[in-house]
Order: sequence, then structure tokens, then C-alpha cells
Amino acid sequence: MSFVTKLSWFFRSRWSPYALAIALMACSSLLAIVPPRMIGNTVDHIRKGSLTSAELTQTVFLLILLAVILYVVTFLWITTLYGNSVLLEKWLRGRLLTHMTKMAPPFFQRNSTGQLMAIATNDVQAIGQTAGYGVMTLVNTLVGASVVIVTMVSLISFKLMLAALIPLPLLAVVISVIGKRVRTRFLSAQQSFGKMNDHALESISGIRVIRSYVQEDADLQAFNQVTTEVMLKNRKVSVLNAMFQPLISFIVGVSYAIGIGYGAYLVIHSEITLGQLISFNIYLGMLIWPMISFGEFINVLQRGSASADRLEDMMVQQSDIQEAYEPVRPELPNTLAMRNLTFTYPSAQQPSLVNLSFGVERGETLGIVGRTGSGKSTLLKQLLRQYPLEPQQLWISGVPIEQIALDHLKSWIAYVPQEHLLLSKSIRDNIALGKPEATDEEIAKAVKMASFTSDVEQMPQGLATIVGENGVMLSGGQKQRLAIARALLMNSEILLMDDSLSAVDARTESRILQHIREERAGRTTMITTHRLSAVSHANWILVLDQGHIAEEGTHEQLMMLGGWYKQQWDRQQMEASLDE
Ligand code: ATP
Ligand code: MG
Repeated sequence: MSFVTKLSWFFRSRWSPYALAIALMACSSLLAIVPPRMIGNTVDHIRKGSLTSAELTQTVFLLILLAVILYVVTFLWITTLYGNSVLLEKWLRGRLLTHMTKMAPPFFQRNSTGQLMAIATNDVQAIGQTAGYGVMTLVNTLVGASVVIVTMVSLISFKLMLAALIPLPLLAVVISVIGKRVRTRFLSAQQSFGKMNDHALESISGIRVIRSYVQEDADLQAFNQVTTEVMLKNRKVSVLNAMFQPLISFIVGVSYAIGIGYGAYLVIHSEITLGQLISFNIYLGMLIWPMISFGEFINVLQRGSASADRLEDMMVQQSDIQEAYEPVRPELPNTLAMRNLTFTYPSAQQPSLVNLSFGVERGETLGIVGRTGSGKSTLLKQLLRQYPLEPQQLWISGVPIEQIALDHLKSWIAYVPQEHLLLSKSIRDNIALGKPEATDEEIAKAVKMASFTSDVEQMPQGLATIVGENGVMLSGGQKQRLAIARALLMNSEILLMDDSLSAVDARTESRILQHIREERAGRTTMITTHRLSAVSHANWILVLDQGHIAEEGTHEQLMMLGGWYKQQWDRQQMEASLDE
């Protein structure tokens, strides 16, 4: 029942195809009871010796005609019903993806990629099956069985029908017991399937690391374990399925025995004719399919509703970042300020940022440096609103960031993440990711600003070169500059560069920084780096240490201070001169 309520929106929007399919199914059930009746009549005519050849020809002709009509009607309802089920799958996958694109990083920390994929593939398919095959089996059982039973009673004998169907209640009991088990076992099988997906994803994407550490065998073995688990759990489900079929044959066998034994007794006592007994036995045979159908229905329904629960669990998860009740849209990000900002990752014990306070004016460049793990990336991410933040800690243009409309905030920011993500498309498409309508001139300019031009010229197809999955075709420095070009193309108000120049040489770095300074005059840039030369020109520099601001000031002030910054600077200058 919960399955129906969860999908009521679908059944309501598609009620007419469903009604058509059900009407056609009822039609075919009704038509199917005619032939046995005709066969019984013919037998009685033969017995009485009253069968004429004209009558026989007519009967044979009618039987063939009926078979043809049944074929057409059945074809129609099957296509209608299955059309619904594949449509439902398509809609559900669309909804799921729409939902996932709205989610923030904590959601993806809670739900692994493998589980999400399992839901988008297997579970959605199980739901679609219930809405198609499940509905078919249910209607078949209800309509098919009742038509046959009514016919048996009205045309033959109530007593005989009752006797033959004595074993049926047994079926109902067994089904209700087994049905529940199918559900729990199927849920657990689906969870293992998700785990297997995760493993396969990691093995494939990490194949190069696994190979270089000669861990293929170990990985294969681990994968083997996961697939064995999936197999065992699926086997447990199929054992339950297997228990249905023989049970149904058994019950049908008992029914036949009663039917023929008691039926013969009734014929001898002239309560029914021989022809009626033959018709009755054919009708009994026609009950097998509705009974099998019922078993199948319980099965499919249990799987479908288990999967619908899993899907629902996913869909009810709200994004961890909510739009403000009355979102504000300041015209420009004139100022940017943190006031005692403290931030802890949802999964962490310790805060990664502690009591940060500073301000940046529009047009300024802020440098953020510090040891690895000191919180540089975390600080930049606060502007992207990926994680929930305490209110009133981060302000833009005098408005707390949580009150600014999300799409408005995002339209200001271009972000070059520390781990760049490239799509397996052409270089041009990767650069134009945030601005698909960009002209060739705009792209060429962004490429030039990122000092990427000569690299592109050397590629086999220039900008049209496909970079391979996550940019396998490109060197580390090329990937970085592609990511920079992508961000610069946006020409946005705020540019966040997270250690984006680590893989390019010092000369290229200073060239790119020079371009950025010229091109982005008047707009805000925030740069984190390990190479201090990348921020020496900044208006203000923060030195982070374990989430605190350890030192801050301009390059000159920090050099005067003689702390971590000066030591680091001196060491890097020395290394640079040694290199030369
Ligand atoms: P690096 O120079 O190596 O890039 P960083 O200064 O950028 O380092 P962050 O990535 O900001 O450092 O990490 C700061 C701290 O937050 C680290 O201790 C890290 O373990 C923790 N951290 C980072 N991301 C997460 C996360 N998603 N969940 C929990 N803790 C995290
Ligand atoms: Mg970082």
C-alpha cells in the first residue's frame, strides 16, 4: 500500500493508459473463457451424436478468430503497461539527478557514489517493474481468477468449484510469510550491490595507483569478496522465489485431483455432463496463471516497495544549505569580511577555522598562506557556501552570507579548486563549462591569460582535443592552467585560486599573476599558495596555523615581523637561486 501512496503522483498523472491497459486485460480474460465452453459443448454434441459438419467448421473458425483477437488485445495492453513502466523509470532518474545536483558536499559524504548509482539503476528499475509487471500480475490475478471462478459457478457447478479450490488458502498463508522475507533480503542485497559499485568505481578510477603498487591481486581478491557477498544475498532472494513455483504446482495438482475425482462422481450422478467436466478442467488449468501471477505480484511488490523506500530516503534529504527566507541581492560585493568565524566540518571533532576576523575591499587581492592542513582551502570554501555556517560570521557588502540569494552569490564567484576536475570533453568545452555561449575570442583570451596558448597549439586538435577522463591526456601543469582559464573566462567579481599555480614553473607563475593583476584590476582575488612569491604582491596576507591567524600584513610588514612568513620566504628565495 505504501508503494501506491509513494507513487500516487505517477498513477494519477498516467491514469488513462493504466485504465486502458486494465480494460484491455479484462477484455482478454473475458474472451479467454469462451473457447473452453465451446470445446465442452462440442464434446457434448459428439456424445449425443448431434454434431453437424457445418457446426464443427463454424466452431473451428471461431476458435481461430478468437485466438487472433486475443493476440491483438494482449499485445496492446502489454505495450501500454510497459510503456508506463519505462516512462516511470525515466522520470524517477530525472528527479533523482535534479535532487542530487541541489545537494551540498555533506550529502555526498553521507551517501557514497556507489549507493547513489545503485539507486539510480537497480532500485529505479525495481520500482518501474512494480508499476508495470506488478500491476499486470495483480490485475491478471484479480480479473483472471474472478472471471474463471464466476464462469465455473454459473456454467458448471458451485460444489465442484468449491471442492477444487480448497487448497487455495494454504497459498495465501505461505505467501504472506515469504513476502516479508523477500523484502528484507532484497534490501540487504541492494545494499551490497551499492558497496560493490563503490568498489568497482574505486578500482577503475584508481587503477594506475593500484598497478604501481602492484596491488592488482589484492584488489581483485577484495572485489571478489564483495561480489561473492552480492551473489550470496541475491541467491537468498532467489531461493525464496524458487519456493513459490513448486508450491503453486503442488496446489494446482491437488486441485486437479479433486476436480477430476469429484467431477467424475458428479458426471456419474448426472449432476453435470461430460462436456462440462472437460470445460471445468480447462478452466482449472486457466487458474494456474492467475495464481502464479499472484506469487509474482507479491515478489515484485516487495522488491519495488523496498526500492521505493531507499529512493524516498534519498529524496527526503534536504540540502544542507538552504536558501534564506527572504534572500538579499546586493548589487556588488564591495566588502568581504569575516567576524570571529569558527568552522568545524560536520564529520570532524576539531574546528578547522578558529576565530578568524579580517576584511577585504573590492579590488583587493588577499593572500592566504600557511602549513599544509592549516585551513587555507577550508577558508576559501566558506565563500562557496558548501557547508552550513553559523550566522553572522561572514559578511559580503554588509549582508551576512546566509541571507544572500544562492544563485546571486554563485554568479559572483569563480573558483579554481585545489583538485581540479576535468570532464572527458574537448579542451574548449572544459574551459567554457561555466559559460557555454562564450565566443572564440573570449576563449582565446582566457587561454592566453592562463599562459596556456602554446600548449593548446601543440595539441593534436588544438582546442578540440578531447582531454580523456579527468584530463588523463594533460600534464599536471596543463590541467592547472586549463582550470585557471575556465575560471578567468567567467570574468567574475571574486576569483578564488586554491593553490592553483603549484605545478607551473616560477616564470609561468609570475606571467599568469601579471595577467590576472592587469585584467582583474578593480575586482577581488583570493589566492592560497605554498609558494610565497605568488602572494607577495597581495594587498594583505594571512598566515594560518591550525585554523588560527598566526601572522598578517603586507609582504613588507610580514618580512619585518620575522616570523614563519620571513623564514619561509628566505628559504624559498634561496632554493630558487640554487635552482637557477
Ligand atoms: P593544503 O595546504 O594541504 O591544501 P589546507 O591549508 O588547504 O592544506 P584544509 O584542506 O583547509 O588545509 O584542511 C584544514 C583541516 O580541515 C585539515 O586538518 C583537514 O584534515 C580538515 N578537513 C579538510 N576537509 C575536511 C572534510 N571534508 N571533512 C573533515 N575534515 C576536513
Ligand atoms: Mg588546501
